[in-house]
Amino acid sequence: MKKKKIKDLLIGSNNAGKVREIKQLLPKNINVYSIIDYKVRSPKETGKTFLQNSYIKSKYFSKKTGKICLADDSGLEIDILNKRPGIFSARWGGKNNNFNQAINRVFKELNKVDKNWKKKRIKARFICALTIYGPKVKKIHAIGKIEGRISIKKIGKNGFGYDPIFIPNGEKITFGQMKFKNKFKIDHRAKAFTKLKKFL
Ligand code: IMP
Repeated sequence: MKKKKIKDLLIGSNNAGKVREIKQLLPKNINVYSIIDYKVRSPKETGKTFLQNSYIKSKYFSKKTGKICLADDSGLEIDILNKRPGIFSARWGGKNNNFNQAINRVFKELNKVDKNWKKKRIKARFICALTIYGPKVKKIHAIGKIEGRISIKKIGKNGFGYDPIFIPNGEKITFGQMKFKNKFKIDHRAKAFTKLKKFL
């Protein structure tokens, strides 16, 4: 028998921008709800991996609402920083989620480990982990990655977070210089969502 597809889905994020973006990545036949309308605060992200954190959020919001919930966790890994900021990507921006602060921290940490880093290829990747959890649904996981390198300076005003310092492989420009409609098709989030398509 064909597996029943998910018809109603709660998006487990209190970030309105993220909810909007996720809605665009989901098939149009799904009824989408947002945890923002339930006024439930987000749980502490105590996991050690992106996947664990997405699982913590989806399970928590599903239990609070009784709905099937999709939650994500994402961030940037830089190889010579031992994969940092990783799951701390948002936290490097401080309490106000200041992206300039986060990018300055990246440059500071790179200078600490190698004064000549600007002459080298600094390998990095964005990762997006997704978990769907809820009644009658076994845990569903998907991970999407996009490989690239760190730019020697901040370039471009598009996007958010670490976009102005990330150059995807095969490109000469940063995500910050790329039009949203182009980044949106190739990034870690798009790749993770493609893997979920068969369930939705
Ligand atoms: P999350 O909301 O806990 O998943 O935190 C994700 C953090 O990772 C964001 O605040 C950004 O700093 C960073 N991040 C994730 N995806 C992207 C992206 O596509 N571009 C730039 N930064 C990203």
